[in-house]
Amino acid sequence: MEKKNKFAKPIPIQSLFFLHTTHKLDFNPDYQRESVWTKSQKQLLIDSLLIEIDIPKIYFREVARGSFVYEVVDGQQRLRAIFEFLENRFPLSVDSDPVDGKIIAGKYFQDLDISLQLQLQAISLDIVIMNKAYTDDDIDEMFLRLQNGTPLNAAEKRRAVSGNMGTIVRTLADSKVFGLAGFTDKRFAYEDTVAKTLHELLNGTITDIRPVSIKKSYDIYKDLSQTDRSVIRLKHAYSFLQKSFKNKPSPKLKKYALISLGYLLSDMLDDYDLNNYPSEFADCYLDFEKKRILNENLPEESQDSQLAAFTDAARSDSIQDIKYRDEVYRAMIIGGIPQLALKDPTREFTQDQRLLIYLRDGGICSNCGSRCEQDNFHADHKKPHSKGGATSLENGQLLCPECNQKKGSKE
Ligand SMILES: [Zn+2]
Repeated sequence: MEKKNKFAKPIPIQSLFFLHTTHKLDFNPDYQRESVWTKSQKQLLIDSLLIEIDIPKIYFREVARGSFVYEVVDGQQRLRAIFEFLENRFPLSVDSDPVDGKIIAGKYFQDLDISLQLQLQAISLDIVIMNKAYTDDDIDEMFLRLQNGTPLNAAEKRRAVSGNMGTIVRTLADSKVFGLAGFTDKRFAYEDTVAKTLHELLNGTITDIRPVSIKKSYDIYKDLSQTDRSVIRLKHAYSFLQKSFKNKPSPKLKKYALISLGYLLSDMLDDYDLNNYPSEFADCYLDFEKKRILNENLPEESQDSQLAAFTDAARSDSIQDIKYRDEVYRAMIIGGIPQLALKDPTREFTQDQRLLIYLRDGGICSNCGSRCEQDNFHADHKKPHSKGGATSLENGQLLCPECNQKKGSKE
């Protein structure tokens, strides 16, 4: 096995451009996580090169894959900017100062004075070449330390953390529910939305969603399964949202709204028969937003204080504000869908409880005294769950299917 080895080597821009045009550079390795530069970031880089400011080292790894000879491990955006400039794909900033007395402002490469064209192509960049002994994991680890240019945001940093939580977050961020979002996926905003919601669900409560706390969840839940209850619940919440707005105007959900709704729908779909009311849910949400936005545009003294407080709470991610949003949304749903009921409680006895109820009651229906088979009886709440009856042995009784049905329809 070859030993890890890396060495730095100055390579002129024209040679790097040659490697690029002959398809020797792979810009899309799996671990590449740099965010795309804006035009002004690109312009600033070229400007810096022309005035001979050193730029940070660029990292390649040796590969043998098709025509590729090197992967660009770090420095992808810098190289891309340089190549695009050489290809006359963007001009320098109109604010650029002259170089050696020559005007460069607003100019494309082809329009620069020839001496500047040659000067730029002759500049050598420090390239660190790593051999094939470096694994993807080595690179993952290095990448976090090497990031230059735009600092990574929390969602981008989390992409470099290995483990199942990240994988699951990435899958969920592909969900069609983001078609309802009123924001773009710039810099992994959808993954950030999912990560924050899943973090709360995994913690079982509304909790701190600062990056440092979410990072902890990534560590704790590195073996998270796709079939984990929290993951399933969030999937249900997302599919309910999609179903709700299917034939409605898009709610253009903000990030805070998707986080809050993801969390609270996961919860309410468990407790209530909400799944029966997708259209009603969409209507009460759209109605709430309409009122909220109208209220926002009123003079301050005539604003509804609760709606105004909600708008304020939407601007922050403090636990207190998230809790407030949760309360307001819950009230919106429960108030907006008056027919909403707690779910059928009979489903909630455990298999063990059911067996013990059957054995204790001797297989006999507590109401009519008829005999029931062990695979055909009903474990019933004496005092109904919806009225506060506990799902306990004490409150459980055996009913035959007919008596259960009669009791169910009476309630
Ligand atoms: Zn009976």
